[in-house]
Amino acid sequence: MFVVPLIERKRDGGALTPEEWSALIAAYTQARVPDYQMAALLMAVVFRGLERQELAALTDAMLASGQRLSFDGWATPRVDKHSTGGVGDKVSLVLAPLVAACGVAVPMMSGRGLGHTGGTLDKLESIPGFRTALSLAETKQQVQRLGCAMIGQTPEIAPADRRLYALRDVTGTVEAIPLIAASIMSKKLAEGLTALVLDVKRGSGAFLPDLKQGLELARTMIALGEDRGCPTVALLTAMDRPLGRACGNALEIEEAILALRGEGPPDLMTVTSSKARKKLESALGSGLAAEKFEQLIEAQGGNPRVVEDPAVLPQALAVEVYAAAATGVVVRIEPRTVGRAIVAMGGGRLQVEDSVDPTVGFVISIKPGDKVLAGEPIASVYARDASGVELGCQALGRAIVIADRLTEKPLPLVSHRVTKAGVEELGSTLPRRGPRPRAAPRD
Ligand code: URA
Repeated sequence: MFVVPLIERKRDGGALTPEEWSALIAAYTQARVPDYQMAALLMAVVFRGLERQELAALTDAMLASGQRLSFDGWATPRVDKHSTGGVGDKVSLVLAPLVAACGVAVPMMSGRGLGHTGGTLDKLESIPGFRTALSLAETKQQVQRLGCAMIGQTPEIAPADRRLYALRDVTGTVEAIPLIAASIMSKKLAEGLTALVLDVKRGSGAFLPDLKQGLELARTMIALGEDRGCPTVALLTAMDRPLGRACGNALEIEEAILALRGEGPPDLMTVTSSKARKKLESALGSGLAAEKFEQLIEAQGGNPRVVEDPAVLPQALAVEVYAAAATGVVVRIEPRTVGRAIVAMGGGRLQVEDSVDPTVGFVISIKPGDKVLAGEPIASVYARDASGVELGCQALGRAIVIADRLTEKPLPLVSHRVTKAGVEELGSTLPRRGPRPRAAPRD
């Protein structure tokens, strides 16, 4: 395929036709277009954007690159939620088994770490044995039997997003509304859903920090979903600080398990159960949600004992407590700095073929607005070795800002609800700090 003229046209502000998008994505999926040409085109899209019909054509081409789950004749409602990406965002890990425990099916397809943000697949794969590459037939069978499956893009399902996602991760081409929208919606529309909830992050740790951009992303994805017969709503949620306390793959699985036992940090639980709170709380309280996660892990080849005993997760070799550098009020915990440090410590990818160390990360027990004393333990650093600990401590030194008083107001956890009818502003609380960090390594 002759790709250079397409790259040049996009670079110069022109548009590709739907036929060109369709041929290009098909050729790229079959490895007939090299990564360097696709990376150049993606960068042109970051700068030039896509016209409405181009976005529709790109999304449809990505959707058509693989097969779709079909649950024809199965009456059980099927829902999913997808986040635009954040640091410490383990909502999917809690929500999928929780909703399934309430009798609604969740055929969830997620991604790996992207840029400074973590990915549900990398987190799940820190559970010894856990398989995310299920076939279409296995996924359908598991969803009908158990009520949920948590899978990744494969050569069979969403293969175009599989390649594009990995390429965008390492080429600085994540931050573009049409690329995020096509990536998310091509996966979600392949799942055979009856409804979809989008968690659109805003704030400094989000790919699109501004409220205006977040709302535009929400509206763009809602239009793609609704036009293709999938009722879609979006919630705008805060990513000006990490969500929950744990940041890093295995650490987030451990926190998700705590949440499924009803012991999750308040901010995580607020974002997880923004609607239908009573029903979800009863599934947590009865133990049904944790049991569902155990069944899901077992069905996907993982060690289900992890739910009872998170020590089954791989453990970091070096752990150190991080103490507050000054007395005062926590003004900011910069999620991008935290997320980038996890990548640098080995918990994310610098190149497509890199493997991920599931053990590294942070547990941060403070939130903006909390008062701290100099020398007080406020976080733990989990690393491979002493140099990783050093790197992590330096990153926390930059990420955590302590001042005499709160100089900026943290964003509300859940601020807006967007539907095809319009935007509704919501009020929400700001939960406070959790327990102190552990002084010793996990054993
Ligand atoms: N999540 C996705 O699946 N794709 C993106 O591009 C960003 C977040």
